[in-house]
Amino acid sequence: FSPELNQAAMERLAIEHQLHDALQRDQFVLHYQPRLARDGRVTGVEALIRWNRPGHGLQLPGRFIPVAEESELIVLIGEWVLAEVIRQLRMWLDAGLSAPSVAINLSARQLRLTSLPEQIAEALRSAGLPAPLLEFEVMESMAMENPERASLLLGRLRDMGIRLAIDDFGTGYSSLSYLKRLPFDYLKIDRSFVAEITHDNNDLAIVRGTIALAHSLGLTVVAEGVETAGQLALLTGADCDEFQRFHFARPLPADEL
Ligand code: C2E
Ligand code: MG
Ligand code: MG
Repeated sequence: FSPELNQAAMERLAIEHQLHDALQRDQFVLHYQPRLARDGRVTGVEALIRWNRPGHGLQLPGRFIPVAEESELIVLIGEWVLAEVIRQLRMWLDAGLSAPSVAINLSARQLRLTSLPEQIAEALRSAGLPAPLLEFEVMESMAMENPERASLLLGRLRDMGIRLAIDDFGTGYSSLSYLKRLPFDYLKIDRSFVAEITHDNNDLAIVRGTIALAHSLGLTVVAEGVETAGQLALLTGADCDEFQRFHFARPLPADEL
């Protein structure tokens, strides 16, 4: 026990209480980060949640999503994210814009909701949107928590025409036999590997190996957190297909996107 620990626990408790209000008071906002192909074409965007927390400014998900994930709050937040993405897509289309497909991050608890595919289908149907406008990203560790259940649920989404990604690849434990059987379309290399590839040969080797493995399983490879020209050159040389790049586009509010 230490005063710092106590303070961290109090902060967590405060966040948990405030998150309930945040949903009621409409304090969440989605930013969108483009994903680029090798030729610079935008292949889709990722929806990333932020919280306009009173007295704290705009909070990044690392501050509050882990707290929300400890309870059913994450399910409510997940429902808000889905509804907000659907609303935004409808708005873009109604404004005559060509809407990009939007990738939504799913948490482990959402993967346990057998009603999730119906919820998503119903949201798409009532907004008159085609399913391929949505994509879902599942963290490696969450997919592997119960691969059979994940496979069943994700398979239903895939059957609807929704593309699926395995997120933060390399940070958790993967069973390669499950990786082969889970219905993913693309694999996202975690930015912790990308960060060091220009000066750590082991990370470069891991990234090259991951790309080769993914390609042989028929998966598209997306690198996250590409910040420098050197990283981009190495990734391109290693045959990486797509990139999320801070220096090209940070996560942006919808109007700026
Ligand atoms: P993620 O899904 O791996 O999202 C990518 C993160 O990498 C985002 O951080 C993004 O801002 C960051 N990033 C992208 N390019 C760069 C770069 O070039 N450099 C650096 N340093 N960072 C880059 P963010 O927005 O803070 O999100 C963190 C995590 O929070 C996400 O990781 C995701 O796991 C979670 N998250 C975000 N939104 C949601 C949501 O709506 N629902 C759930 N369940 N989780 C979410
Ligand atoms: Mg993601
Ligand atoms: Mg990621």
